[in-house]
Amino acid sequence: MTAAMLIGDPVSGTQTVAREKLEEIFEDVRSHPLYDHELYGCLNCGICTATCPSAYYYDYSPREIVQLLLTENLEGVYDVMQEKIWACAQCYTCAARCPFHNSPGGLVMILRETAIKHGMQSAKDVLSRSRAC
Ligand code: SF4
Ligand code: SF4
Repeated sequence: MTAAMLIGDPVSGTQTVAREKLEEIFEDVRSHPLYDHELYGCLNCGICTATCPSAYYYDYSPREIVQLLLTENLEGVYDVMQEKIWACAQCYTCAARCPFHNSPGGLVMILRETAIKHGMQSAKDVLSRSRAC
């Protein structure tokens, strides 16, 4: 594998992720049975982020996640799976307000399931914290 085929981990700055792995992860997200019911399009209007309680408290934006998925930004999707997806409170205010009838919260759940499936460290950290409670 050449260096050009590796993409630096945008969070740690130390790991590298092969393009093939990014494509595999994205394909798992896109082929989820609920994906097409949660994402229809996006006006990039920001209403979801404006009404999202997690966006108020954290560096987190459902609009960003929807846009990354819609534009098939594989690196960006991988990036938000390292940390940001775990900030969502799963309240689904975004789904109630989106003029496109998207469900950013539902997309986050798909990303979480995929993070667990691929054994990502962010998923391990969250699951170990929940077991400790
Ligand atoms: S509210 Fe809907 S259309 Fe607007 S940015 Fe969010 S997901 Fe896109
Ligand atoms: S479901 Fe998640 S993304 Fe949607 S409004 Fe609630 S906290 Fe924000």
